[in-house]
Amino acid sequence: MNINKIEHIGIAVKSIEESLKYYEGVLGLKCYAIEDVKDQKVKTAFLKIGETKIELLEATSNESPIAKFIEKKGTGVHHIAFAVNGIEETLVAVEKNGIQLIDSKPRKGAEGLDIAFLHPKSTGGVLTELCEKND
Ligand code: ZN
Repeated sequence: MNINKIEHIGIAVKSIEESLKYYEGVLGLKCYAIEDVKDQKVKTAFLKIGETKIELLEATSNESPIAKFIEKKGTGVHHIAFAVNGIEETLVAVEKNGIQLIDSKPRKGAEGLDIAFLHPKSTGGVLTELCEKND
């Protein structure tokens, strides 16, 4: 397993605009990118803290996984993302260790990263994202 760092922490919000009043206005962080991820039906906003980022996730449709998450659990921490080297091999390795995959193959996420999710059922309740920068 080759995990480098926490790439970002994903937070489900009702409104990015409202949330930025806290993250920018109170905490003094800077939002440097807002991006639509169409296949996930979410709008994402990124703020950087050292090497790690906060990813704010706002649903753009009632069908969005984020809308469903907020309906069930309310707003708050949604997932944790680890930066890995060799995302395909890592997926094979975690699956061999009995971890249930949501994505058996990496797909493109925000910021052009290759991403794949592990099911929270087999990670102690934490939705876990693996990501790798591949240009
Ligand atoms: Zn993420």
